Amino acid sequence: MNFELDEFHEGFRKKVAGLARIHAAPYARKRDVQGTFPFEVMENLAEEGLLGIGVPKSYKGLGLDPVCLILAIEELARCDGASALTLAAHSLACGHILQMGDEAQKRKFLPAMASGRSLGAWALAEVRSGSDAASLRTRAEKKPGGWVLNGTKMFVTQGSVAGVYIIMARTGPDQDRHGISAFIIEADTPGLRPVARLDKIGCRASDTAVVRLKDVWVPEDSLLGQKGRGLVDALGILDQGRVGIGAMAVGLGQAALEASLAFARRRKQFGRTIASFQAIQWMLADMATEISAARLLVYRAAFLAAQGAPCTMQASMAKLYASEAATRAANKAVQIHGGYGCLRSYPVERYLRDAKICEIGEGTSEIQRLIIARELMKTI
Ligand SMILES: Cc1cc2nc3c(=O)[nH]c(=O)nc-3n(C[C@H](O)[C@H](O)[C@H](O)COP(=O)(O)OP(=O)(O)OC[C@H]3O[C@@H](n4cnc5c(N)ncnc54)[C@H](O)[C@@H]3O)c2cc1C
Repeated sequence: MNFELDEFHEGFRKKVAGLARIHAAPYARKRDVQGTFPFEVMENLAEEGLLGIGVPKSYKGLGLDPVCLILAIEELARCDGASALTLAAHSLACGHILQMGDEAQKRKFLPAMASGRSLGAWALAEVRSGSDAASLRTRAEKKPGGWVLNGTKMFVTQGSVAGVYIIMARTGPDQDRHGISAFIIEADTPGLRPVARLDKIGCRASDTAVVRLKDVWVPEDSLLGQKGRGLVDALGILDQGRVGIGAMAVGLGQAALEASLAFARRRKQFGRTIASFQAIQWMLADMATEISAARLLVYRAAFLAAQGAPCTMQASMAKLYASEAATRAANKAVQIHGGYGCLRSYPVERYLRDAKICEIGEGTSEIQRLIIARELMKTI
């Protein structure tokens, strides 16, 4: 048993950490305050191939394993949660095409996505359908030579900046989980329109939008995977996506810990550094312990995914624990910073807002607990 990253993964982690410090950390606060999308960060990551980490070299990606992807998301989150979320959502769209697409679809879309020319968005949620994904109402009607889609997608990450959208739509009876299919739709397709960019509590620079589809005609070959398998496939894709959100939470928690350690060593009260007070030390100890535990859960799930092994329960455990641990760590970080923790000029309040997003996006903590319990029941 080995709990360390091997030489290759450690080298990759260090490389991304360096790039994140150079490209993502500067202006992260300004982008957060203004809610401006990190276009330049994405361009810089794309130049390094980091928008195609898991995309095989034959489709112009780096062809690396899921462990590399989560290391990249973790290191980006240490500098900028919004950039990490952007990469995570883009990778979800790439992963769906890679796993369920046919050869022509992979050749058509993946090279542009891996090179960053086209960001991916992945749209399952709707206004009335969140946790209960099987209740979605966006409909795709079969027409000669193609499909016509109508409906509205909610909370679409990259919803107003993507080049390619993966849209889950109903092709069968209402409420039937086998009546949903996935479609790949290009941003310039007539009738597809981002109608509102959503103003969020955290990851404010990441783009979250409402996307409307009005009489969107797409050809037959836009169907991604088998007809009626869209939800089942999407839930499988989410297993890996959740590990990414767990990694993002680990990066945010680590950033909160590092900022708190530095501040506690610097800040003096009663003639001593606050780091010398046991109350502060206990908070730091809890933060470090929980973030380490979260990291182990995330790496285990990514390792299983890299082996092609089932990881539904492990992915949910990683996402559940890491996101809640990151929120706890960031909350303690604000406490350790005292009044300064409440100021926007210190990064810890941003970590807290960003970490909260991790408890909700790609399935809430409550839904992760349901999945874990369901998987546990299977073993009895
Ligand atoms: C920043 C951000 C980015 C996102 N990006 C995307 C994206 O790119 N693509 C996409 O498709 N979606 C995206 N989402 C949507 C996200 O997946 C949903 O918000 C999430 O799944 C919860 O759905 P909901 O918001 O409709 O809440 P609801 O499902 O309405 O839940 C409300 C509350 O009820 C609880 N609840 C619901 N059902 C149960 C149950 N059976 N048992 C116990 N408690 C329950 C929930 O846990 C929650 O506390 C994003 C969300 C956010 C915040």
